[in-house]
Amino acid sequence: MKETAKLKRIAILGSTGSIGTQALEVIAAHPQLFEAEVLCAHSNATLLIAQAKQFKPNAVVVTDETKYTEVKEALGSLPIKVFAGAGALADVVAWDSVDIVITAIVGFAGLHSTIAAVKAGKRIALANKETLVVAGDIVTRLASETGATVIPVDSEHSAIFQCLAGEDYSQVEKIILTASGGPFLGKKPNFLVNVKASHALQHPNWTMGAKITIDSATLMNKGLEMIEAKWLFGLENEQIDVVIHPQSIIHSMVQFTDSSVKAQMGLPDMKLPIQYALAYPGRVHNDFKRLDFKEFSKLSFEQPDYKTFRNLALAKDAMYKGGNAPGVLNAANEVVVHAFLQNRVSFIEMSDVIETVGTRIAFIEQPTLEDHEQSDKEARIRAAELVKKSQLSH
Ligand code: NDP
Ligand code: MG
Repeated sequence: MKETAKLKRIAILGSTGSIGTQALEVIAAHPQLFEAEVLCAHSNATLLIAQAKQFKPNAVVVTDETKYTEVKEALGSLPIKVFAGAGALADVVAWDSVDIVITAIVGFAGLHSTIAAVKAGKRIALANKETLVVAGDIVTRLASETGATVIPVDSEHSAIFQCLAGEDYSQVEKIILTASGGPFLGKKPNFLVNVKASHALQHPNWTMGAKITIDSATLMNKGLEMIEAKWLFGLENEQIDVVIHPQSIIHSMVQFTDSSVKAQMGLPDMKLPIQYALAYPGRVHNDFKRLDFKEFSKLSFEQPDYKTFRNLALAKDAMYKGGNAPGVLNAANEVVVHAFLQNRVSFIEMSDVIETVGTRIAFIEQPTLEDHEQSDKEARIRAAELVKKSQLSH
């Protein structure tokens, strides 16, 4: 007899973003399985209102408080609760009516709400990788205390998670994260010196939010993903490898102690890892385009160029250093990416700033959450000072 799956009620933090809107597409495609319980956005009130009218959640949160009146008035005639401010996120993720929290806020801004969901013992479909980069130790320790489960949404980590289904984690020899290489694969510093944001925003295989698209062009994204993998799968630094795979068909691999390698493949489409995280441990039939191997005559692999794409090397160093170093790297990176998008710092200078900030913030080996917040603040100030010295800022 076929069992009827229980409807899962979902809170989406960052519903107006690239991951958030794709998560809503997945929910819309499977109304018998998933329901939007809470939608949260920052400043895009227009889209949040439209989403609320379509999905009729129990509540919406707009973290930019200046948008509250607009959202409240637009939804006034509907039975939808409206809250404002970042503090409201911590409350709604803990509601009994929320089964799964999708953390799709971009950057350090997602840390507190993710921790609140972990404290509430929820299932978390984690897209906000910066949370684990900054405070992976705290988040994983808390999750083991509260019974929260963190299921990756990031495609590489979803691939590894899928390869590990039914496996004994202690038999993992290493994981191999694949990277497309981004739009500047094969380029050298003399080319990168002149690239602009509009250039870097053209990712060959994925359509994503602006911040992660720039991180993909600098390979910082892959560095952040190494740290994310370390915490998600409880790995030693030496067990984490990166290979460039321009076609983005293999989403990542696991090598086991008997030399066997498992890979998870598919066409690049974030809706698949989102759906997997929501449906786990099950799989759900969908109408996504299928991978036809005959259309891919070649799947290729190469070494990352750590010398040209220094952000990858800097992130790897921060991972080895541990403590507050990844958080400092992340904060400096958020500042320079923002500045690069506004043409206030050059592509190459982004790495210079991140490297210098890393040497200027006091190292803390076992930071508390408060330490992380303080380091984040200091690193942002330092990075902003250095950005101001860029010729482009004048
Ligand atoms: P987007 O920039 O597209 O969306 C970001 C979302 O976060 C928006 O809903 C935005 O709200 C909200 N937001 C921004 N700042 C704040 C804030 N201060 N407080 C609360 N909410 C805020 O990002 P993506 O969807 O691309 O990425 C989201 C996360 O998922 C990132 O951590 C990224 O690394 C990760 N990820 C993304 C992938 C992708 O394909 N896009 C793939 C793998 C991981 P608003 O629009 O209303 O301002
Ligand atoms: Mg990824």
